[in-house]
Amino acid sequence: MRILLLATVCTLTSCIGGGLKRRFPTPPSIPLKNSKLKDYAGCYHIHTHFSHDSRGKFPDILNAAQKSGCDFLILTDHNTLQGKRYQGLHKNILVLSGAELSTPSGHLGALQIQTIPNRHQNIQHLLQQIRKQGGFSIVHHPHGGRTWKGGIHGFDAMEVFNLASLLKDNLVSTIFSALFVYPFSRKEAFASLIKRPSANLALFDKIAQQRHIVMIAANDAHAIPVGKLTLQIYEHLFPLVRIHILAKNQANILSALRKGRCYFAFDIFEDATSFLFYAKKKNSTQYLLMGDSSPFSNQWILLARSPVFCKFKLYKNGKNIRIHLGKTLSYSPQTSGVFRLEAYLPYPSSSNTQRWIPWVFTNPIWLKN
Ligand SMILES: [Zn+2]
Ligand SMILES: [Zn+2]
Repeated sequence: MRILLLATVCTLTSCIGGGLKRRFPTPPSIPLKNSKLKDYAGCYHIHTHFSHDSRGKFPDILNAAQKSGCDFLILTDHNTLQGKRYQGLHKNILVLSGAELSTPSGHLGALQIQTIPNRHQNIQHLLQQIRKQGGFSIVHHPHGGRTWKGGIHGFDAMEVFNLASLLKDNLVSTIFSALFVYPFSRKEAFASLIKRPSANLALFDKIAQQRHIVMIAANDAHAIPVGKLTLQIYEHLFPLVRIHILAKNQANILSALRKGRCYFAFDIFEDATSFLFYAKKKNSTQYLLMGDSSPFSNQWILLARSPVFCKFKLYKNGKNIRIHLGKTLSYSPQTSGVFRLEAYLPYPSSSNTQRWIPWVFTNPIWLKN
């Protein structure tokens, strides 16, 4: 296994590095009247050298983020807030730092906290302490590696997709893809591994019917020590999946994330920047964005637009209620519910053996009484 890992290191580090062809040079404005919002893309759940299992140097992480077209990066080292020393604007990338707490119930992300709370206490007390500090809690990899055992109450957000869990859970395929497919086609290597995170989505949908919750995706990127070598893979992992946050400016990224004004996308297949899911009231300029809620009325129309042709799958209370092919979607709900959208891309784009691969997952819009 060690030899295979070393071979993977050599292949990954010698082949053409990451990078992502950005659809827009700067975050584009959201074309909604009076919104003044922009689409900022970035990566969540990054481990630096402050984590026991990562040797990542900040300049390397920053370079990888720049090559991947990131507008923000959120560091979450294990049980420490030392990453806060890197907070701020670097090369036009906003760097934020929280921590990943190892609790007896599983791994829990905590953002906007000032001190690390006692992580061995009862999980509900811990969640309360994070809230008291004005913090934001995120259940990490609920079904990967370390399964979440802390129940469904009290946290603010959940990783619906965790890249490291996908790669670790499919280790043999990952190593095969890294060695024999990735050097020739990064898209094909990832397409052979990616699948809809159905178990996490089912859990998310269950909770979303009870309360507001935010869905995010994580890169969970480390610089992995392999003996004396270090597997420097940030620039390979960052372009695969990014969170897109709709915010007025970079300073508002975290508050917009907390509201759920975001979606995540496997941007390696197509840069999803400017994808939009929203609701508009008939004969009115009133609208709702992902993460918003409003009492149900049959005057609301759910709308979506995509920068490229895709298959939209609209979900209500966890059930797929509409499939539509195209670049836009319009749907008039007749009853109340929690609505969210998934989008799939035809892959490969020109082939007889085309299949649909997961691409975009949005936060819900709550139309409930
Ligand atoms: Zn973890
Ligand atoms: Zn982690």
